Amino acid sequence: ESQIKSQKYMRAHFNYDPKKDRLIPCADAGLTFSDGDVLQILSSEDPNWWQARVVTKDEDGQTGLIPSQPLEEKRKAFVQPDYDYSKSSLLCGLKRRKKKKIKYATKNTTDFDRCDLSIYEEVARMPPFERKTLIIVGATGVGRRSLKERLLKDDPRRFGAVMPHTCREMRDGEVNGKGYFFTDRETMEDDIKAGLYLEYGEYNGNLYGTKIDSINHVTNAGKMCVLDVNPTSLKILKTAEFMPFVVFIAAPSAEALKRMYDYGRQKGIVVRRGDDDYRKAVEESAQIERVYKGLFDMTIVNDSFEDAYKQLRMALNDLGTESQWVPINWGP
Ligand code: 5GP
Repeated sequence: ESQIKSQKYMRAHFNYDPKKDRLIPCADAGLTFSDGDVLQILSSEDPNWWQARVVTKDEDGQTGLIPSQPLEEKRKAFVQPDYDYSKSSLLCGLKRRKKKKIKYATKNTTDFDRCDLSIYEEVARMPPFERKTLIIVGATGVGRRSLKERLLKDDPRRFGAVMPHTCREMRDGEVNGKGYFFTDRETMEDDIKAGLYLEYGEYNGNLYGTKIDSINHVTNAGKMCVLDVNPTSLKILKTAEFMPFVVFIAAPSAEALKRMYDYGRQKGIVVRRGDDDYRKAVEESAQIERVYKGLFDMTIVNDSFEDAYKQLRMALNDLGTESQWVPINWGP
């Protein structure tokens, strides 16, 4: 890799200030950049220090030296504690609430390799296009479900949701494919073991869950599939197949969260929550952000439901008119 690659673009997943870098040979030659910036790699001849330009709308971004991927990998291997997110209580929230655990776990919900995206990610610029899915992630109780429901209600022709599978008996008047896809327990267990489910849980002795393939029913109908999922699913979903727009709904402060719930109560939306729950939501939110930040396209701090909803709608509309930087393997 000794030739000049001017067509290589990388999204940085960390902040960099050459003035604070003790390794750089000459801080004045360094390039300052922020988490999320797209960098054009002008030269990667030197194994440790690449020549790069910050990509801006006006093409007038600064150029300078940045630490190479291998250099940054070595450095981060020394300083980053390896937090095993997959063992945390965030897994399968629904299962936890119902207090009934099933023994096996899908291979999808474990082994998230956080190092994938902690340094640089190769990206390509694409003309405006619609993403196939919208993934809303965030801590429990910070509003992702409400945002999803609002989208589905306001524009049912543009947005759709996946239909879950269950192995419970069909009730009078129920139809397969309306509300649920009905199946038998054995098939469902096999499919769960085979990793075909995005999430699942057990309720009253019956299995319920969302099959990954069900997303295609929605996208094939020409709709954007809105998914409100555990962030552990991002690894399976952030692919060219599902082309997601990933939005993180961040918790505001515990006080602001409490105010929002108090306001909801005045309007008749009664949810039982204690001070501890607000604090927990804020902690969970920060934890999700720390681990999965590199996979988010956008972060919305939900300190007002109406504002958060407006921001989300605007961002979705912009996708149809502005060029987008996406993972390189999404390209044609
Ligand atoms: P019902 O059998 O009355 O239609 O649903 C009972 C419960 O099953 C729901 O309240 C919910 O807790 C659970 N459930 C429904 N769909 C799903 C799903 O897609 N995944 C999981 N894990 N649980 C579900």
